[in-house]
Amino acid sequence: MPISSRWSCEIPKRSLATYLFESPTAPLPKEPLYIDSLNPKKFVSYHAYRSLVQRIASGLLAIGLRPGDRVILFSGNNIFFPPFFNGIIAAGGIFTGANPNFTPREIEQQIRSSGARFLVAHRNNSDVAREAAENVGLDEGSVFMFDEGLDITADGKIFGWGNKSSPGQTRHWSDIVEKGYDGFVWRELRTDEELDTTATINYSSGTTGIPKGVQITHKNLVSNTHQSIYLRMQSDSAPDDSRWLGMLPMYHAYGQTFYAITAPKRRVLVYVLQKFDFGAFLMAIQKYKITSIAAVPPIMVALAKNPDVLKFDLSSVNGLGCGSAPLSRDISREAEERVMRGRAGEERVNLKQGWGMTEATCSITGFRPGDTDEVGSVGELLPNCEGKVMDTGAGSRELPPNTPGEIWVRAPNVTKGYYRNRAATEDTITPDGWLKTGDIGYYNEAGRWFIVDRKKELIKVKGNQVAPAELEGLLLEHPNVIDAAVIGIPHAEDERPRAYIVAKPGATVTADEIREWVKKRAIRYKWITGGVVLIPAVPRNLSGKILREELRDRAKTETGDS
Ligand code: AMP
Repeated sequence: MPISSRWSCEIPKRSLATYLFESPTAPLPKEPLYIDSLNPKKFVSYHAYRSLVQRIASGLLAIGLRPGDRVILFSGNNIFFPPFFNGIIAAGGIFTGANPNFTPREIEQQIRSSGARFLVAHRNNSDVAREAAENVGLDEGSVFMFDEGLDITADGKIFGWGNKSSPGQTRHWSDIVEKGYDGFVWRELRTDEELDTTATINYSSGTTGIPKGVQITHKNLVSNTHQSIYLRMQSDSAPDDSRWLGMLPMYHAYGQTFYAITAPKRRVLVYVLQKFDFGAFLMAIQKYKITSIAAVPPIMVALAKNPDVLKFDLSSVNGLGCGSAPLSRDISREAEERVMRGRAGEERVNLKQGWGMTEATCSITGFRPGDTDEVGSVGELLPNCEGKVMDTGAGSRELPPNTPGEIWVRAPNVTKGYYRNRAATEDTITPDGWLKTGDIGYYNEAGRWFIVDRKKELIKVKGNQVAPAELEGLLLEHPNVIDAAVIGIPHAEDERPRAYIVAKPGATVTADEIREWVKKRAIRYKWITGGVVLIPAVPRNLSGKILREELRDRAKTETGDS
């Protein structure tokens, strides 16, 4: 029998905009909601948030956006990112976010695969954006420059734009906002079919292959936020959690759900960090008395180990949350000790992991604030979620508690499928709605879940997805490479991509050449930093599938990590 969450809640049947703002006119607070951590005089109030969403939505419609059109936001975090995210969705468009450090090749791939009609790129990315737009034949008039120059009052009045220039035929995002208006009434969604309208396309390689667009609907976003908030409310005591640091990337499911939706819904103040830098992160926690930190393992490792941490007062932090990749309990404990230095009283900080994936909007498990974890569990199922553990051999036998297998989940936050990829959808979601997560784990009698391994090909580097198939495709483009396989190898609390290369007969290729080839074409976290090994043949089964397990064993011997 599948395990059901012990909590169940009624999910509001509302569009994302109504869930967030109640209505186009309901009174909203004028206190800051998003503050620029570099320039704290600049902020967006809750009221201004809605006003910008309305202007961006109606402005996008005025420049020709049609329902279902995809808009890529190619930018790092800033205080206007959440309004842009929600503006696209309130217009009936589909948001798709791209890592601000993508190379032209990577952004091109995303424009192509999402079929984006508009590209909104941060000013810092203008060269990459223009090159990519040209290569895919996207007219420069559909490319907008985005920045943090806008000055807006707490009641939504715009009084300045800073530098409105934009290169070539591209346009500045003020063109959108100024064509829009404050009182815009978004289309309300009520029926199940309407609530299944796609709001975002986030990229994930899933259990196999290259990155694919995961369609996340209004229902998914509202559900996942509501599930987390409901679980939080099932606690008698929750420490002050009123100030967050917005440093997780907002183009990713994690940042979107936390900052653009949950924070306003819970009225949490977010100090937005535009670019992650460990020193700036520590400084901001101390300066703004941040109350909880949601991060990824490498940041927790730095908190636990980096001596600079000792120079800062982090005693305002009541909560530490971590997700996106495994974290050892030892590191958690060290990170806890570090933030508790200088803290008055007996109250302990307990680091809690959450587990989730892009295909499930963001989170699948979590903890109530009053609960503690001492063993490295990822918590309990969120309300309205069901989970089961399946035998990885036969794939159809359900396993009892405390027995690891592949975790399957069924929940209102699970995607309806990959964009324009029915085969991958059918491989990942069963006809009765179970998402095969590709993660190996188990649950115990208390309903706590544990992740122990990964069945899928995915490699995680600093919390980012690296799809072996994407790197293999890139390596096969090298003129002297005839075959290639990429696996992840463990490194400290992280992973590193390692490549096995077969050179073309008669050709020579060096490890350095391979590393350079990837460096020139891919974002840094995809670089081959786990080693390059030249081999006579890639081990494959009869149907040509790479025998990754064999390569992983081989890597253990080669690196002495056995
Ligand atoms: P993403 O779709 O980028 O969020 O990646 C989802 C994948 O990250 C999951 O399927 C897991 O493999 C991994 N992951 C997320 N959270 C955890 C966690 N707490 N422990 C171990 N792996 C995790």
